[in-house]
Amino acid sequence: MKAESGKLVPLDAAKSPAADAEGCARRLFGLDREALKERMEDLGEPSWRGRQVAEALYRQRVEGLGEITTLSKQLRGKLADSGWEVGRPAIRQVFKSVDGTERYLVECGPAGTGSVETVETVWMPEGDDGEAGDGSDSSGPEVQAKSWNRATICVSSQVGCAVNCQFCLTAKLGLQRNLTAGEIAGQVVSVLARQGIEVGKERLNLVFMGMGEPFLNYDNFMGAVRLLVGEVGLSPQRMTVSTSGIVPGIERFAQEPVEVRPKLAISLNAPNDLIRQELMPINRKWNIEAVMDAVGRIQLRPRERVTFEYVLLGGRTDQPEHAKQVARLLRSRGLPVKVNLIAWNPGPGIPYSMPAPGAIDAFRAILAGEGIAVYLRRPRGRDIYAACGQLKRTSEKTSEETSALIEPKESKEERDS
Ligand code: SF4
Repeated sequence: MKAESGKLVPLDAAKSPAADAEGCARRLFGLDREALKERMEDLGEPSWRGRQVAEALYRQRVEGLGEITTLSKQLRGKLADSGWEVGRPAIRQVFKSVDGTERYLVECGPAGTGSVETVETVWMPEGDDGEAGDGSDSSGPEVQAKSWNRATICVSSQVGCAVNCQFCLTAKLGLQRNLTAGEIAGQVVSVLARQGIEVGKERLNLVFMGMGEPFLNYDNFMGAVRLLVGEVGLSPQRMTVSTSGIVPGIERFAQEPVEVRPKLAISLNAPNDLIRQELMPINRKWNIEAVMDAVGRIQLRPRERVTFEYVLLGGRTDQPEHAKQVARLLRSRGLPVKVNLIAWNPGPGIPYSMPAPGAIDAFRAILAGEGIAVYLRRPRGRDIYAACGQLKRTSEKTSEETSALIEPKESKEERDS
């Protein structure tokens, strides 16, 4: 990267998944099939054993060596004696929202090394009304028939974040460290295991919109995507990565083969540079025009659209003139786009206010009137600090044993608005 800010992590400073796994932990989880074959050969085993291990890690979702029953007891012992462990990030705490959302504290880093950190992962049955992932953008009547018909997992890419968006609780943590590819993919596999998801049979979407800026941990983020596509069997077309506008990252992303490239979302949040640089200091480094130029270089799939996320802050970014500016900005580029509106989620110590319901409707109507596809993302899990911009490893809320029944402060009408 190429950012001069002392707080940002260089794009090329991220370790490779293999290097991480070969460090002190010797974690198998995070290695792809080819790397696992090599490890097996290192142990004097035939390379096809690597395929068996990959199946166990990513399809059967084993948590310990003892569960890899396709390997002999002797070979499992040999792996353990050589210091290998499965090493998948484990869900350590669960917070349940009244709306069905679950927020997890996921433990990353091998036990016993003193380097354990927790990140947040969020499970949203019925998604967030923003990313159906299959070309549709909202649940139709058929979706209501089951308890959930599609779901979204929101995944973290870093412990904390250096980008310092002023409306975001995660920013308060600062950047602690990058996650490895295995730690990013492991969040997903742990949630798949907890929810008993059969890959390929359920409408499951991933959004890389949790803690961190994925494009400031680019190699590990894309390493995780390759694992999730190649080993876990998920489709990149059901994945969306959100960036605050890291232009070198967008440029690298534009070069990724379409077989492993998720869809892109830009966290726009402001109608012009003046307001955006106040809310998102990163805009001083890469302004809206630079971001839009980089986005324009991506070769989109047929019917693919770039998502623009827009957090509505009461009185600050939710006025009719702001909506008109956003419409002008997006239409001027001629790109296939859609806008996801997000009513700002309150957090302690963040000096903004929620938009009034009337302002949300008016904003939406102006964009729609300008011919822009616009969707309102329902706030999910706000009562357990699981909603957008609220992830800060908050652990004071009730845990799984007691189950969260905390009523959100706002009215039901506001929640559903
Ligand atoms: S909104 Fe995203 S990029 Fe901005 S500080 Fe929060 S986690 Fe980082």
